Amino acid sequence: MADFGEDSDESDGEGSLGNVNRIIMRPPGHSGKAKRGHLCFDASFETGNLGRVDLINEHEYDLFIRPDTCSPKLRFWFNFTVDNVRQDQRVIFNIVNISKSRNLFNTNMTPIVKSTTRPKWQRIPKRNVFYYRSPVHQNNYVLSFTFGFDREDEIFQFALAPPYSYSRLQSFLLSLDSKGRHSKCFLKREIIGSTVQKRKLDLITIGAPENMNEKQRVIIILARVHPGESPSSFVCQGLLEFLVSVNSISSLLRQTVTFKVIPMLNPDGVFLGNYRSSGMGFDLNRVWHIASQWAHPTLRAVLDMIIAIDKSKDFQLDYVVDIHAHSSLTGCFIYGNSYEDVYRYERHTVFPKILATVSDDYVATNTMFNADGNKSGSARRYLCTILSSQVNCYTFEVSLFGYKLNGGEVIIPYTEDSCIL
Ligand SMILES: [Zn+2]
Repeated sequence: MADFGEDSDESDGEGSLGNVNRIIMRPPGHSGKAKRGHLCFDASFETGNLGRVDLINEHEYDLFIRPDTCSPKLRFWFNFTVDNVRQDQRVIFNIVNISKSRNLFNTNMTPIVKSTTRPKWQRIPKRNVFYYRSPVHQNNYVLSFTFGFDREDEIFQFALAPPYSYSRLQSFLLSLDSKGRHSKCFLKREIIGSTVQKRKLDLITIGAPENMNEKQRVIIILARVHPGESPSSFVCQGLLEFLVSVNSISSLLRQTVTFKVIPMLNPDGVFLGNYRSSGMGFDLNRVWHIASQWAHPTLRAVLDMIIAIDKSKDFQLDYVVDIHAHSSLTGCFIYGNSYEDVYRYERHTVFPKILATVSDDYVATNTMFNADGNKSGSARRYLCTILSSQVNCYTFEVSLFGYKLNGGEVIIPYTEDSCIL
């Protein structure tokens, strides 16, 4: 518990590196021990993000997202807790400094909430959420939502999307081994590098034991280069669980292909609660062409691995798929490359077409193949320039919010469980 008798000056922190650390919001002029209903905000935990809180009046608070490390223009991911609430206290929270005005809050997305005795994330009802240009906030887009605290002794947590931390990945990977034992698959976990802040860069290899000595066809999966795109991790976890399972399709896949999966390309950024940046402030999906051991050690390690596999006579690299979460579109879809060589281009469009036929939430109209220059440092764009021409490099996008079924207008939110098979 916090010492409610102490003041904190953390609320001056917008633009600083720090998250709020159990800051208690007292009405002006109040001194002495904090009372119930003087809300206590905290984001000083793994994946937490809240930089500053301003008390407008006893019912209303302006909340400031902490900008990405060394990238003040990037502000979208938020994840914080509130406690010391009063029974039936009703509040308005205004998130006032979102940097990306066109996003899924325009498409009826709402923040999610959970509390101590209700640990499953729930969406705040749309009728309580407003996303609009606010004249009292320099005409910036503001996300306002009302909330009623119904239980006094609970800690309430609010977030953009279900968080998926570095620690959660580490404990999942520990459990993967026992899952793989049932299917008798080949399963290997290696640490192929470390981040600037010394976190592990994991590589998981999955295949069939009998294929390991022959020339292997390889598919490389990358995930979570962008920390605020937590659905990327849920999709990756679901994929890993499926690939090691006893399911007959996964068994057939393992007989045919060896999968090499990097489940978290940016562990420092994820840990810090950034939206797009690494711990040094780089958008790692814009610097593949200049990846250095000093500034982007996880990219360098993965790039060296991919190049070695592509060059080796023991492997045939077919696909590299980089999993992201999209902040303004619904469903899942592929971004690919366009090529002047029509045969290469035709080959490249086959995988998205297959995906469209087997996946109910796939959106063909969001799928794009392009060659625009501003993405030249992204994985799919850079890798296709340096790898053999038979390798197809894709970005796989899944919505931060949800999907529409059968072309309908109702959006069904993705949940933690629905990504995990
Ligand atoms: Zn992304």
